[in-house]
Order: sequence, then C-alpha cells, then structure tokens
Amino acid sequence: MKTTIKLACIAVIAISQMATAVEKATELPPQTLFTNVNIFNGVDNKLYDNHFVLIEKNKIKTISATAIKTNKDATVIDGGGRTLMPGLIDAHVHLNLQYLNNPAAIDGVSNMTWEEIGAMAYDASQEYLYSGFTTVRDLCGMHDGMRKHIEAGTLIGPRIYLAGACISQTSGHGDWRTNAQVIGDDGNKVGQVQALGIATLADGADEVLKACRNNLAGGADFCKMMAGGGVTSMRDPIHSFQGTPDELKAMVTATTQWDTVGAVHAYHDGSVINAIKAGVMSIEHGNLMAQKSTFKLVKKKGAFVVPAMAGFSDQLLKHPQYGNPDLPLRAKVETIIKNYDNWVKLANETGINIGYGTDVVVSTKAASRGIRDFQMGQFAEGFGNFKTLKAMTSDNGRLMALTGKNNPYPATLGVIAAGAYADIILVDGNPLKDLTVLGASFDMWAPPRAQRTIKTIPLVMKDGKVFHNSL
Ligand SMILES: [Zn+2]
Repeated sequence: MKTTIKLACIAVIAISQMATAVEKATELPPQTLFTNVNIFNGVDNKLYDNHFVLIEKNKIKTISATAIKTNKDATVIDGGGRTLMPGLIDAHVHLNLQYLNNPAAIDGVSNMTWEEIGAMAYDASQEYLYSGFTTVRDLCGMHDGMRKHIEAGTLIGPRIYLAGACISQTSGHGDWRTNAQVIGDDGNKVGQVQALGIATLADGADEVLKACRNNLAGGADFCKMMAGGGVTSMRDPIHSFQGTPDELKAMVTATTQWDTVGAVHAYHDGSVINAIKAGVMSIEHGNLMAQKSTFKLVKKKGAFVVPAMAGFSDQLLKHPQYGNPDLPLRAKVETIIKNYDNWVKLANETGINIGYGTDVVVSTKAASRGIRDFQMGQFAEGFGNFKTLKAMTSDNGRLMALTGKNNPYPATLGVIAAGAYADIILVDGNPLKDLTVLGASFDMWAPPRAQRTIKTIPLVMKDGKVFHNSL
C-alpha cells in the first residue's frame, strides 16, 4: 500500500514537471526586429545598407541583409533608412562633480551636501543616456549606489563603470582641502570630498593598497590614482610628479589581484612613463605628452590614453574658471593648448589606443553640455569622423573590457555584432560624413544647447530596452 502511494506521488511530480517543461518551451524570449537600417558597426569605416537586426532579450542575435524570421509577437521597428549604430560610450566622466551652479570651481564642491551632489549626478546620468551615451566610465567619486538602482530599473541612466574614490597623495590633484584644513586651524582636517568618499588621500604603498582595496570592496570596477599635476586643482603644479613608483605599483597590484586594471591621471611625459612602467593600462589626459618615445611606450604596452580634447582648445579660455587670469588654472590650460598639434601628430603616427572621454567638471548645466558636445567636434578635427566614432564605440568597448573578470557588463560593448549587448541608437543621417547628427559642435559656447534628447537621435535602446523613441 505504502509503495503504491509513493509511486502515485512520483507520477504526479513527473506529470507536473512535464507540464512546466511544455509551458517553458512555448515561452519565447522577447524580440525586437529593426528593419531597413544602414549599420555602422563600430569597427568598419562604412555603412552596411538596408539591413535587418534582431534583438533577443538584451543582446543582438542576428544581423542580416535579408529578412529575418522572428517570434510572432516580436516588436518590429522600421528604421526608415536611418543609421543604426552602437550606443555611445564616454570613458571619462565625473557624474558627482559635473554640475556646479556657482563659480567657485573645486572650492564650490566643498560647500555641497550629498543631497545636492546626488541629485545633480542623477540629472547628469539621464543627460548621457537620452543623448545616446548608453555607457559612461566614472573616474572619481562614484561608488555603486546609483548604479545599483539604475540596474534595478528604479532610476534611469547609462551603464556605469566606476573607480570609486580617486586616490591622491597629500598635496596631489585630489587634495581639495581648504587652507584651514591644510594649515591646521580646522580641527576636522578632512576635506569635504574626502568626507564624502569622492576622493581619498593616501601616502605610501600601504595606504594606496588600502584605499584601492576599499574602493573594490565598495563595488569599484577598477582604481584610479593621481600620477601628476592637474588643471582644476589649486595646490599642485601641472609639472609635478605624484605617486612614487611603489605607490603606483601598489594600485596595480591591488587591481591585478581582482583581474582588473589601474588608471591614472597624468599629463606630462614623465608621469605617463612612471605609470606605464608600473603597469597602468589607462592614462587619463596625457595631453602634455610631447616625446615620440612616450607614445611608443604606450603603444608597446597596449595601454589606452583618454585625452580630454576640450583642454586643447583656446575656446576653453572663455570658461569663467579655466580662463580666469587670477586663477592658476588659466596658465595650465595655456600650456596644454600649445601641445595640441604635436600631440595629434604623434598619436596619429604611433597609432596608440585612444579612448574617448570628455572629463566635464564643475560647470553649469548648460556649459557642461556645451563642453561635452564640443569635444566630439574637437576630436574629429584632430582624428577625423571615423576615428572619433570608433573611439566612442568599439575602442571604448575594448577599454571597458580591461576590467576583466571584474567587468560588471561582461558581454561586448560598442559594436553591432551577434552576442553584443543591445545598446543601440538610431540616427538621422550618416555620422561618418556629419558628426553633428550625434550632437558634435565646433563652438563650445554657441547657445542654445540641446538638453536631454537630440532630434537626430530618435531612438535610444540600452540592454534591449527602449528608453527614448520619437520615431
Ligand atoms: Zn577627470
């Protein structure tokens, strides 16, 4: 009797499992089919005319010149002969530090609360996504708080790669303490950006190890430290070296153990050479690299340089901070402008990996957008439309992939290829011929600036989901 009951139970379980299996087999994954699109795939200097692209769940499944069979309930989007291309990637942003509504530059940040900073960072993140940037890489200040909510769908924004608090030596590019804190009549001694975890001060290899590991513990995908003088900061001369070889190696050790990479802020040859020798794979700025041998070393190691192109333009001198003759920032910017022609020549000659990053900080919302759009124009002036497009898509995708096993988005980014993430924009016009269709401008200060969406980017898809559609 007991045996019969047992057998009956097994039979019931088997039938119910079969039913689930049948149900599952009929449950088809969601699909979106783009028809009638000309593809820029992020890699080739051409458009593939009149193609079909099938998205399944959050990835690109099939690309074809002939019709593709889909599920019955697939969403079909007629591209109307528009360009379909990868969502753009900005490899150097500071969501926490991008907007500032007073003219006090870095000092202004010292008076902001997390409430202001967080709200403005969220606005900035939406600006990126709606204007076609489906991925950004934050180089100082973001931990994974906002990203968690974007990934969960409660907030709207791009994919975010983040470095956590940027690591600086005392007196370095990340030392934004007030004079009272430095000299000693402020008992607190900790600057606002340190207190909020945007930047962190570390001296000696042990402190750098700890700071980098702290970032990794807080969800950072890689680490960033200051290896030389900066423009925006007031305490450090642009010619300065920052971080000893041991300190730089400490960051590289901590990141290598996580199978990811270290990035540095470095402008001049000496600081870039120190960083590359320590094993750093991402040089942020590098705008003062003037020797061919430095470019060759970068090329040999396969590292990336991410120059903020706006720094090369005398149009930046109209900025209330960067152009102010009473501030040390102006002289620093002038030095960088002088190296522009040489930099472009050496970068083109040596064929180094160049990432596309805009590094917009401490500007009003309107100026921030103007500077961002201008960088696209300036990059194209130096390297041409195709290289600019490649830098914003597949080259930056390779840069993101340097985060290795620590990569929060492990499928391919920045290309239109089977298996890549379905991060896609539709564009009115051919960006290989005219970059203004992606928002590029050649005048940093020309009003009025687009906000949020761009008319010529009528559709933005990230991770297979449509976030903007004005078709
Ligand atoms: Zn930066």
